[in-house]
Amino acid sequence: MNTPFDAAAALRSMTSTASEGGTSPIRDASFEAVRTLVGATLSKGPEAVIAAVGEAQAQVERLWTQVRATPAFALGTPKAACGKGCGWCCHQRVGATATEVLYIAQALRSRPGAAPLVERLKSWNGGRPCVFLVDNACSIYDLRPMKCRGVYQVDVRWCMSTFAKLDAPLFGPAPSPEFQLAPKDVFDGAVFGLAHPLHMAGRDCPGVDFIPALKAVIDRSDAVQAWWRGDQVFPAEARLHDWFPPVQRPGGGKDRKARGHGR
Ligand code: SF4
Ligand code: SF4
Repeated sequence: MNTPFDAAAALRSMTSTASEGGTSPIRDASFEAVRTLVGATLSKGPEAVIAAVGEAQAQVERLWTQVRATPAFALGTPKAACGKGCGWCCHQRVGATATEVLYIAQALRSRPGAAPLVERLKSWNGGRPCVFLVDNACSIYDLRPMKCRGVYQVDVRWCMSTFAKLDAPLFGPAPSPEFQLAPKDVFDGAVFGLAHPLHMAGRDCPGVDFIPALKAVIDRSDAVQAWWRGDQVFPAEARLHDWFPPVQRPGGGKDRKARGHGR
């Protein structure tokens, strides 16, 4: 970012345009911050690119803290029902960038005490909830993908019925999704900031199904180098190309702008 990020101004601007399908300064700020961070590592090789994912997570969490602290958000947004011990949202498929998966695999391989989690992952056979949901809490909370970070709900019954397909008691009309805009924009912007520089450099950084993609590389200490060489390190069924449409490349004829939604 060339100018300091003003969370309050961004939030005011975002709420004035979002309902008309306009741009989101919050999403753009997050996108630019992460894109710049990752872009600066491209000439340094694959290990630097993957390490930048961790830096991006920290940077975007700081941005989200700024947004939450604004009076507009703090006073104008219903309090989230989210918290430790609440994991209905972990009963759905989670998307991540290829680089997030490679970063998380690397971190788990070197994390003391992570062996039981790795074994859970390797035993995964397609079921839900997420293998990392242990005692209704995320056991990789500090590493979790951007899409997991962007969830924000004010009525847990909506999550129970939507994600876990349970009959939630006394649940009426779904709450307005307006309160989700800011967190979604922060973390969706980051997802595209992770992918964009790699797409622009002609490198493969698809959106992938988090758990099967992670399972495929968890035992591969060479996964980062293999991905950088252009090997297909993720199984075809774990690739979700539609979340990352081709981006604009100089001189490219078929390319489209990077935009998208979904967890
Ligand atoms: S998104 Fe829903 S299920 Fe997930 S932590 Fe928040 S309230 Fe709980
Ligand atoms: S990684 Fe963590 S937050 Fe994300 S779905 Fe799995 S348990 Fe839930």
